[in-house]
Amino acid sequence: MAKRKLVAGNWKMNPPTLGKAEALARAVVEATRGDAAVDVLVIPPAPFLGAVGAALHGSAVALGAQNLHPDRGGAYTGEVAGSMLHDLGVRYVLCGHSERRQLFGESPALVGAKVAAAHRDRLVPILCVGETLDERDQGVTDTVVLGQLEQGLAGLDTAVIAETVIAYEPVWAIGTGRNATPEQAQAVHRVIRDWLRRQVGDLADELRVLYGGSVKPANAAELMAEPDIDGALVGGASLEAAGFGAIVRAAG
Ligand code: PEP
Repeated sequence: MAKRKLVAGNWKMNPPTLGKAEALARAVVEATRGDAAVDVLVIPPAPFLGAVGAALHGSAVALGAQNLHPDRGGAYTGEVAGSMLHDLGVRYVLCGHSERRQLFGESPALVGAKVAAAHRDRLVPILCVGETLDERDQGVTDTVVLGQLEQGLAGLDTAVIAETVIAYEPVWAIGTGRNATPEQAQAVHRVIRDWLRRQVGDLADELRVLYGGSVKPANAAELMAEPDIDGALVGGASLEAAGFGAIVRAAG
């Protein structure tokens, strides 16, 4: 069976109210209805997960979370465990988004612990990797990305690695309006795929490697036409349902 593309909308800390989040979820369901060939996912802020999950109920749109704590419970004020997310109907969880790494100081080891915890709690982790502009200019993109992959997937069995989603998100393209060109993105996706093949053999072809960084309706089709780009992780453009629907159609 051909691998299905996945288009995920990371709402980040938006929208500001529950009512707007529910309305956006309902609008996404409408805007993506009928796109049966593509897996669609929305990733709202944690306090809205329950209500957005209810708004998605009965639709093909899946629910994701933006973060989790590696432990199952304990004295971690403000944190959320994977088992709690799972019980809310969450299926996917972002791990190591560059905003978490840069703004909240998440170390590669912590990101790896989160990926492992997600698998333990029956969530599909979306491991985000990507270089800064400085690192690209220094010519160390591949080294940085493969280092993040290695640490993010450390200690996992082959079969578990194969059930992970990877998102290549060049930091310089996130929220800047400046996307990687399809050729730039494909070159890194190929490096990622080759590395995965060394870890899991032919299962590397089943793994989904998403591109993220200023994906919008105008550039989605050309990015996702590249052979190693299996979908998109969309930030800003996922807050507008019609545009997000257009990106999903571009993936199909
Ligand atoms: C993101 O937050 O993962 C992202 C890719 O954001 P944007 O699409 O806004 O660049």
